[in-house]
Formats: sequence, structure tokens, C-alpha cells
Amino acid sequence: MVSQSNYSQSEEGAVAKSTETEIESALETARRQLQHAADHLDIDSNVVDRLKHPKKVHEVTVPIERDDGTVEVFTGYRAQHDSVRGPYKGGLRYHPEVTRDECVGLGMWMTWKCAVMDLPFGGAKGGVAVNPKKLSDDETERLTRRFGEEIRSVIGPTVDIPAPDMGTGPQTMAWLMDAYSMQEGETVPGVVTGKPPVIGGSKGRNEAPGRSVAIIAREAIEYYEKDIKTTTIAIQGYGSVGSNAARLLDDWGANVVAVSDVNGGIYDTNGLDTHAIPSHHEEPEAVMRHDAPETVTNAELLELDVDVLIPAALGNVLKVENAEEVMADIIVEGANGPTTSAADQIFTDRGIPVIPDILANAGGVTVSYFEWLQDINRRAWSLERVHNELDEEMLKAWDVVETEFANRDVTWRDAAYIVALSRVAEAHEVRGLWP
Ligand code: NAD
Repeated sequence: MVSQSNYSQSEEGAVAKSTETEIESALETARRQLQHAADHLDIDSNVVDRLKHPKKVHEVTVPIERDDGTVEVFTGYRAQHDSVRGPYKGGLRYHPEVTRDECVGLGMWMTWKCAVMDLPFGGAKGGVAVNPKKLSDDETERLTRRFGEEIRSVIGPTVDIPAPDMGTGPQTMAWLMDAYSMQEGETVPGVVTGKPPVIGGSKGRNEAPGRSVAIIAREAIEYYEKDIKTTTIAIQGYGSVGSNAARLLDDWGANVVAVSDVNGGIYDTNGLDTHAIPSHHEEPEAVMRHDAPETVTNAELLELDVDVLIPAALGNVLKVENAEEVMADIIVEGANGPTTSAADQIFTDRGIPVIPDILANAGGVTVSYFEWLQDINRRAWSLERVHNELDEEMLKAWDVVETEFANRDVTWRDAAYIVALSRVAEAHEVRGLWP
């Protein structure tokens, strides 16, 4: 446990500080969740012990020339957790607080996210400890190319496939793919995902995590025997995840009554016109400028009396301080890690189901898998095909998790981890531990 304050950040870099003292580091949480799931399963303890550790962590020095001619030296990491089911897969983040342990913990989560979706990938995470807002575009390009060169020997389309994460995006992936391809002497689109479509990126990749959140929310609504047409929904964050989830649920007849961005939220008990509210990428921080009967703070939004609450901005927003005040009947995690361990326990005690991030927002890595398939086959899919196949994969994953949930007396989070860990552990057992 750490007692110091903990920071979490949205994709574009806004940092929020949480004062909760019981918040664990990503690595501690990942290890605890692994042990929790393992306790429900008959798994060789040697395999569980192995999975508490990464296979390898690469630490590299990344010197770059700043625009003023000086040289600055940054540290980069690539933590490769497990590859028993296929190449390592996971994002690269540019953020001042990137550490070795954070990469290991987040890499572990990627192993479970890929396994719960039954994708033929393992888990990894990496990044550079740098504030990308303090770099010019030219400096970011130089940083990316140099970092790419430093990790070139440990990534590749059959080895480890990075993707965008906080502080990185399609352009970062384009530079990384170019740096890798130039050294290999051939164009290798499959070395990264989340690229611009013109160089092998997939249609539908940007909206995929929000789409999967909407699909999983719809399934949860049905599971708890609510009618989507009378369901009220509050969504925190109106970026890629929040806005895409809101609009799809709205299209399916749900009443999206509240949405927010970093400045606060708007609330209309009759339902908002989600398509008319600009998303973060259409017009940053414009939610509060949209006409609505009431405004709410981000803290108030989390406590609204709604059927479904979707935190889709930051980590650690549902915590000890507010978990007792949450009035929603169902929580669907759009952001990564929005619920602290202590809040999770409170929701369990209060009988509020929390559908976990590793299932709900896994549409992103699933369409990354589709992108990788398209790159290997040199054949682009239509948007319709991406949507259809994503819908199919999400429903398959939901069904398997729902079966575990129904058959065991566990939370939805435990059920998802049990599915993921069973698959990874079984693969380890049949392959055997290298002596
Ligand atoms: P984004 O940058 O597109 O949008 C973030 C939104 O959150 C913006 O509307 C921003 O104004 C808002 N926000 C920022 N700080 C806030 C605060 N303090 N309170 C309330 N709102 C705040 O980000 P995104 O891609 O939608 O990601 C959101 C979350 O989903 C993150 O936790 C991210 O890790 C996770 N996620 C993203 C993807 C992806 O591929 N985009 C995939 C899986 C999970």
C-alpha cells in the first residue's frame, strides 16, 4: 500500500489528484486481483507465482536533441508480462510519472484483457517518463524514433505490438512504424496498431472502446431485467470512450441524462441529445457550453440517481469517500481502473454490480487485433465488418463471463478475471514451465 497521493490521467493528459490514502499502485492491485482470482481456481501455484512477475522489463535511455540544440535524456520502458497465448500487446504512454512498476502492473492487466477477449496476444505496457505537453512536434517525433530504435530488438509483429496510450496517438504510431520499417528494410505495418488508416490502421479503431462499453452496458441492462428505453444513464468524460458509448446507447433508446468533461457536467432528466454535444475530439471542453436545464459537478454526476453509471474519464474516481453515496443500480467501467479496491468492496456489500474495465472497454484492443490481422493479410476491412465482428466478440466474451458470474458466488470483476486467468494458466500448464 502507498500512503502518498496518487495521480491519474486522461488520455490527453489532464491530471487529477486523489487524496485517498488506501489507493494501491497499479502493480499491487494487479497482483492482488490475480491472487483473488487464483483463489477461486485449481491452478498450479507455481504458475500463479510466475504470473505475479513480468517475463522481462526493458529499460532504455532515450537522449534527444531539443529544438534549442541542447540534449535531454529520458528513460523509457517496455514491460513484457506474459506471451504464452501470443505476442505481447499493449500501449506506450508518454507521461512524467511513467515508472517500471506502473508498466509491469498495466502490462499484467493487458494479459487479462486479451485473455478475457480470447485474443491470441499476451500483455505488455511501456512508455517514456516525459511530459509530452512540453515537447514540440519535432521533439516528440525525435523522441519516438529514438525510443523505437532502442526497443526495436524486442518488438515486432510476431513479438510485441505497441499501441497508443496516454500522451501518444496515431501519429506517434506512424513514426514508430516508420522507424522500425526503415531499419528492417521493408514496410512492416503490423509492428504497431492504432495507426492512421492510410498506412494500415483499421477503420473503427477510435470508436471501438466506447462501442464495447455501450454493448456491455446494454447486456448488463438486459441481465438486470431493465428496459433500455426507460433506462437512465450518467457518463463521466466525453472523450473517445464516453461520447461513443453515450451516442450508441442514445441511438438504442436509452436516456442519457448526464454527461461531463473536465469542467463539469450537464443534466437533463428528459435525456440529452448526445449527438449535438461536441465530443472532446470535436471541440475540447465544450460540454458545459451545451444548453441543458441543469449543470452538475463531476463529483455530483457520480452520485446521480440513475440506472447506469459509466465513469469514462479517469482512474480512481469511485473511492471510499463517495462509494456510499453512489445511487446508480449498475456501474460499467469505461475508464481503466475507475474504482478503488475499497470502493469495490463497498459496492459488493451494497449489492451494486460493477462490470469491470477489462471486459467493458476491451473493444479497443479487440479492434487492434483486427488491425493486426488486416496488416498481416494486407487487406482492409469495411467499417461494417469491423462493427459486426466487434459486436460478435463482445457478446462471446460477455456470455463466458456471465456464465462464471452465474455459476459462482463472485463479483463481475472476479468472474472476468477467472475467465482470463483460467485461459492463461491452462496455456502455461499445457506448454509447461521451462525448467
Ligand atoms: P479522451 O482524452 O478522449 O477523453 C477524456 C475525457 O475525460 C474528456 O472529455 C475530458 O475533458 C474528460 N476529463 C478529463 N479530466 C477529467 C476530470 N477530472 N473529470 C471529468 N472528466 C475529465 O480519453 P478516452 O480515450 O476517452 O479515455 C478515457 C478513459 O478510458 C481513460 O481511462 C483511458 O485509459 C480509458 N481507455 C481508453 C481507450 C482508448 O483507446 N481511447 C481504451 C480503453 C480504455
